Amino acid sequence: MQNFDVVVIGGGPIGIACGLEAQKKGLSYVILEKGPIVNSLFNYPVNMQFFSSSEKLEIDGIPFISKEAKPKRDEALEYYRRIVTSNNLNIHLFEKVESVTQEKKGFKVTSSKTSYTTDNLIVATGFYDLPNTINVPGEDLPKVSHYYNDPHFYASQKLAVIGASNSAIDAALECYRKGAEVTLIIRGPEVGQRVKYWVRPDIINRIKEGSINAHFNAEVKEIKERELTINTPEGELALENDFVLALTGYKPNFAFLAQLGVQLSDDEKRLPQYNPDTMETNVKGLYLAGVICGGMETHKWFIENSRIHAKMIIEDILTHSNP
Ligand SMILES: Cc1cc2nc3c(=O)[nH]c(=O)nc-3n(C[C@H](O)[C@H](O)[C@H](O)COP(=O)(O)OP(=O)(O)OC[C@H]3O[C@@H](n4cnc5c(N)ncnc54)[C@H](O)[C@@H]3O)c2cc1C
Repeated sequence: MQNFDVVVIGGGPIGIACGLEAQKKGLSYVILEKGPIVNSLFNYPVNMQFFSSSEKLEIDGIPFISKEAKPKRDEALEYYRRIVTSNNLNIHLFEKVESVTQEKKGFKVTSSKTSYTTDNLIVATGFYDLPNTINVPGEDLPKVSHYYNDPHFYASQKLAVIGASNSAIDAALECYRKGAEVTLIIRGPEVGQRVKYWVRPDIINRIKEGSINAHFNAEVKEIKERELTINTPEGELALENDFVLALTGYKPNFAFLAQLGVQLSDDEKRLPQYNPDTMETNVKGLYLAGVICGGMETHKWFIENSRIHAKMIIEDILTHSNP
């Protein structure tokens, strides 16, 4: 069993920022990451382009140079990977945290490989692991996915994309441009208002001209091997279908937060309780960092506005002089 001043769960951009800050301040620390470095970004669509410009994704002021103003996924992988390797960060990859117990003093963290003790635990596990399911028969068929990767896969196929936000709209446009026959199924009356301002007119015009089919105020009722049934204002429709991308958003692991003793709001937002000045939760010594802080409001926090959590947390840890 090893002891560290700080244990960080999650090696995403914000977990890495926390480790880097701990290192700079002379604290012993380990980052535990269940996948590769920045696992969520690694699993984003291959052609994904960030909505933030590169300087807004920088951590600790380390310059992020990208070809265009808004970097692509592979440039972000390069940037965060280089931060880890150049600074020799103490990150244990492919090591999942399975449980955390509160000890008399601090925490015992048990991973898939070993156990650690610490007085200060930072949870930076993001929200990309758990998709919002649509809970209809057939959702578990192999042709249904909650993650979109590469448009080539869907060429010449009848693809239904469920959702109205950035992930769904990006996937619909890309797949249409690579030869898929795309149908969008949107629960509300319009394409999401938060869709990137330079992408929204594109999708609206593709729908208007009939290049992409769209059903508004529509919900999926059932998914079958060759067909999809949807409820629309005009009644039930059966659509021929080869693949379904259900891109209806993601949510933090609330069960894990509850297991840690972090209080969540009773409403549908399920906001975790923490002090916004220090990021410490209602559990002493347990901090939240990054996009996990938004509960179900996953659009509220992103790299851009949550990268400051690292400095806030490490400063608070040093103030308490727990170590
Ligand atoms: C398609 C898409 C585009 C986006 N574009 C932008 C953008 O342009 N600008 C912006 O600022 N933000 C953007 N975001 C939001 C932001 O990039 C991500 O949410 C970002 O990855 C958040 O960083 P994080 O470190 O808080 O969480 P994550 O990057 O999700 O990191 C969490 C890490 O925790 C690990 N983990 C989870 N559970 C465990 C466990 N039990 N044990 C060990 N490790 C665990 C995961 O594997 C993951 O690597 C985008 C998000 C998406 C989905």
